[in-house]
Formats: sequence, structure tokens, C-alpha cells
Amino acid sequence: MASETFIVIGAGPAGSFLAYNLAKAGCKVLVFEEHESAGLPVHCTGLFTEKIKDYVNLSDEFLVNTLSSVEIHTQNSKVLLKSNEYVVNRAKFDEYLHKEAESLGVKYYFNHKLSSYEKRGSSLQLVFETPNGVEKFDCSTIIGCDGPLSKVNELFNMNPKGEFYLGKQFLIKTSIKKISCYGVFFGGELSDFFGWIVPVDNTHIKIGVGSTIHSLVNKKLRSIRKSLNIKGKVVEVNAGLIPIYNPYREIYKKIGRFNVYLMGDAAGFVKATSGGGVIPSFSAITECYKNIIHGEYPKLPKTRRELLSHLIIRRVMTKLSDSEWDMLIKDFDDKRVRYIISRQNRDNLLKLALELVKSKPYLLKYARFLPKMF
Ligand SMILES: Cc1cc2nc3c(=O)[nH]c(=O)nc-3n(C[C@H](O)[C@H](O)[C@H](O)COP(=O)(O)OP(=O)(O)OC[C@H]3O[C@@H](n4cnc5c(N)ncnc54)[C@H](O)[C@@H]3O)c2cc1C
Repeated sequence: MASETFIVIGAGPAGSFLAYNLAKAGCKVLVFEEHESAGLPVHCTGLFTEKIKDYVNLSDEFLVNTLSSVEIHTQNSKVLLKSNEYVVNRAKFDEYLHKEAESLGVKYYFNHKLSSYEKRGSSLQLVFETPNGVEKFDCSTIIGCDGPLSKVNELFNMNPKGEFYLGKQFLIKTSIKKISCYGVFFGGELSDFFGWIVPVDNTHIKIGVGSTIHSLVNKKLRSIRKSLNIKGKVVEVNAGLIPIYNPYREIYKKIGRFNVYLMGDAAGFVKATSGGGVIPSFSAITECYKNIIHGEYPKLPKTRRELLSHLIIRRVMTKLSDSEWDMLIKDFDDKRVRYIISRQNRDNLLKLALELVKSKPYLLKYARFLPKMF
């Protein structure tokens, strides 16, 4: 292992967090990124629950806002709940993770886009397009942290493309009324996912919408903005694909003596309820980086259990009618329910759901929507 070089594709949060953990364990790691720096272009709201503190020390270098509540909107109802969350500047967050990994000796190659690979006898060479022409690197372990449309996944024939939400958001310069409260919108035409509004700082908010019906996204984005009467100038538009977690997706392949892994969005490690992918990726990497070092199948019992619970609950949410959404909001408007929600977060969804049902068994009425396949 000591002489082996681990090649990570992608300098997003998954790539740099994995590189950091491998380097900390004494491995030689090279990270290849197609863009000229880490973190750009941004296609993320940068909203994390308190769980982020299990993996990264929060720093003023990237933290831009601290939230204490969420307002959940349905077609005819809304409820305000306590929720401690953080908003980060994703470009600065990714750059911070890159610097942390680099400080442990990880070598970054920017402007290097993985395009193909060649087999030469018993060795395998990865081929990168660079501004100076093609460069080739020998490799025995490659980890694709290269996002939702992973080239590693495609080159090594690991999985078909999979399903995605399209997420699109506006960064708007405006006057902010409630700096520590964000909002989410469920039901109606957004029955398969949701919309959001997140205050970034004293003068900027992000409004976004995600849906599997890609043609709906622009329309809903405009209508949420109109319904909230948000004036101001759109200073940035970001859009990106959000993978829908598939428990059967293959994340490891052995080809002769070469090991190929997928992590982060490339592996589909995204919460199906919220589209958040950073914390599940960090959770998965923490669970399995030692398996990667030893060339083993990545074992991820905790991450998989959590991602599966998000998928099941998302499928229940998708089946709710608008009146059932309104009813759910009323059920949440209860002292005990509020207390339980304030103590847990959506990165412990299974625990949160079990506590809620134990305390308020009437919530089991929503179990009739549980998908048959499980
Ligand atoms: C609109 C929107 C809002 C979101 N909001 C949140 C949120 O608030 N909180 C949250 O947790 N998650 C959010 N997400 C999801 C989050 O952005 C992703 O889960 C996260 O970025 C995944 O990190 P990653 O490192 O796996 O992939 P990425 O961040 O996509 O990084 C992959 C990297 O690989 C590089 N790459 C790709 N192909 C190649 C190649 N062939 N060669 C070399 N390099 C390559 C890319 O340039 C990129 O830098 C949001 C997503 C969208 C679309």
C-alpha cells in the first residue's frame, strides 16, 4: 500500500474530503480536476444541518449565515419550526477542503479532464485532456468523485446514467426580512420534490426549485418569487443535476488488479428528501476510506440506512395530496412534535421518524403511503 498512488477524479467536496482522509492515513494521493480551481462553477445552495460539524470545523473562511428556523409551506398552510442550520459559500468551502488536503501532501492537477483510459499489458493508464495536450498517468486505484455525470462511471461501465432532479436557483440581491429563517415549499406542481428560499447574508437570498419534470423548474421558480413578492436583481443563476439515490447502484468494480470506486454524487449519495449530497458523501467516506486503502468492497451500513430512509420518506411525500400536505403541517404544529424536531435534524432522519411515531402514533397514518417495493 505504501508505494501505491490513489487517483481521485474531481476536486469537489467528496474528492477533497476523501483525498484528505487517505493522505492522513499515509497514502500518496493525486486529485485531477477539469476546471482551473476547486469549487467553481457553483451549483449548490450551501445549506447544511448541524451534522456538518461531525466532519469539518466551521470556519469564517466559508460560513456565511447561521439559521435557527425553517418555515414549511404547503398549498394552504405553513408552520414555523426550530432548526439550527448553516449556510456556506460553496466555492470557498470547496477551496478550504482543497487547501486542507494539500496541506497533508495531496497533489492537485487542475485543468486535467479525464477522457479515457488505456490498458498496457498489466498496467492501466488514465488519459487526461489538458490545455497543453494529452497527459497519461499510471494508476492502480481510481476513485470517481466526479459528480452526477461521472466519467469514471461511464468509462468503466459501472451503472446506467440513473435518474436526476434538475435543481435551479437564483441568487438575488434584495432586502432581507428574516436573516435566520429559511423556507421550503411542498405540494402542488412540486409534488415530486420541492422549492426553497435561503437567506445567504444581509443582502442576498437564494430561491430555488428542484423537480424531475425539468420543464416545470423555470415556471415554478418564477411563481415562488412572485408569490413571496421578492424584488431585486438576479445576480447569479445556477443549475445542476441532483442524483436520486439508488440502493442498487454499483460503487466498486475490480478489473484485474485495478480497483475502481465511486463516491459523492458520482455514487448517487444524495438525500432524496432534500437533495443534500455533501453530508451523506462525508458520512460514506468516513465509513469506507479504509476499505479503499485495502482494495476492499466499501462497507457503508450507516450511510446506506440513512439514504434508504430518505428515499422511502421521499416516496411517501410524493404520494401526498395537497390536502394531506396541509394535514401533515397541522400535525407538526404540536408542542411535542416541535420539541422532537428541534432536537434532531434531517441527517438523522430514521431516528427522527422513529421518535415522532413513538411519541405521536397517529403519524403512522402516513405509513399507508409506504412504497410496496420495500
Ligand atoms: C441547485 C442545487 C442546490 C444544492 N444545494 C445543496 C445544499 O444546500 N446542500 C447540500 O449538501 N447539497 C446541495 N446540492 C448537492 C451538492 O451540490 C452535491 O451533492 C455536491 O456538490 C456533491 O459533491 P461531489 O464532490 O460529489 O460532486 P461535485 O461537487 O459535482 O464535484 C465534482 C467535481 O468533479 C469534476 N469533474 C467532473 N468530471 C470530470 C472529469 N472528467 N475530469 C476531471 N474532473 C471532473 C467537476 O468539475 C467537479 O469539480 C445542491 C445541488 C444543486 C444542483
